[in-house]
Amino acid sequence: MKLICSGCRSELTASPQTWRCSDCGNPLEVERLPFRPDAIIKDDHSLWRYRAMLAVAEDVPIVTMGEGMTPLIEASFAGQNIHFKLEYVSPTGSFKDRGTTVLVTKLREWGVRRVGDDSSGNAGASLAAYCARAGINAEIFVPAHTSIQKKRQISTFGAKLRQIEGPREKAAEAVEKAVATTALVYASHAWSPYTYEGTKTVGYELWEQFRGRAPDCFVSPVGQGSLFLGAYRGFKDILAAGLISQLPRMIGVQSDACAPIADAYKDGVDRCAVITKRLPPSIAEGIALQAPIHDREILNAVRTTRGEVIAVSDDEIRSAQRELAEAGFYVEPTSAVVAAALRKARLNGVIVATLTGSGLKAPPNDLT
Ligand SMILES: [Zn+2]
Repeated sequence: MKLICSGCRSELTASPQTWRCSDCGNPLEVERLPFRPDAIIKDDHSLWRYRAMLAVAEDVPIVTMGEGMTPLIEASFAGQNIHFKLEYVSPTGSFKDRGTTVLVTKLREWGVRRVGDDSSGNAGASLAAYCARAGINAEIFVPAHTSIQKKRQISTFGAKLRQIEGPREKAAEAVEKAVATTALVYASHAWSPYTYEGTKTVGYELWEQFRGRAPDCFVSPVGQGSLFLGAYRGFKDILAAGLISQLPRMIGVQSDACAPIADAYKDGVDRCAVITKRLPPSIAEGIALQAPIHDREILNAVRTTRGEVIAVSDDEIRSAQRELAEAGFYVEPTSAVVAAALRKARLNGVIVATLTGSGLKAPPNDLT
């Protein structure tokens, strides 16, 4: 499968070292495969039921732990009927496993033995787990302020944990330096186009769970956009197949402690401004990115679908986390942002709100 640059549209050949466009530096996408309901493997209750629509050859052994096909649970919340998509019901407790299963399958196919990634925690834990299963050595670079539960999860899977002082971007700089100077392969969940091959299946799944319909609104935390953009691509594939007549409104939620995408949306611009000052850490650590690499694509998805980007405060997130728990949903603060946004947004129709990471990763008593 070819890789296509999201910026200059150059075509590149996939390889372990190809994680961004060599011409313009923008993120790459895997050449699109059409959505084909007739090819769904109905008795496979994981996202690999869509294997014919994923960029993995038929004869390649996959690295899987049954990820995907997460519950869709209806509940009354903030005076509205909401369909909560429980992405925290995943092998490592977050939606990241969707992308990791495809990414690590490709890494093993290529014969890669040693990888590195930078993460705010959940992607690192996911990569550590799937690399353990695939027999690949992993080094995970995390901000030193990452929750202790996520750090323990990463090192318990046997990955080498590198703690980097400063904002999330410093961890990215550290891994890029290690990749440039050692034999480490950059298995970046944020950059790799294979991540989005995995996360696009959330759109496919929702279409199946709603019996051949898409929701009217899709609400998700947005930082690097791996779930948000994956879902958007999944819905676009279904639209292109003529199976729905319009895309859901794509609604992204950020923490107002670090909200470059919400600010760009408000300002009507198509790229985020560069934030150079050091921001205070937000309790929504999973989406606290000062320089999101997919900003243009995220803003385009929002505007194309008449969606919006909502910023919520740490206090609103804390209340929402407790409120969700009172309804039976135990999520980390990064996930609770969607519930805080449901209180602010005016949404109509069938609303899906994704709950992306387990509360076990950052319980409320750590926060007060
Ligand atoms: Zn390019």
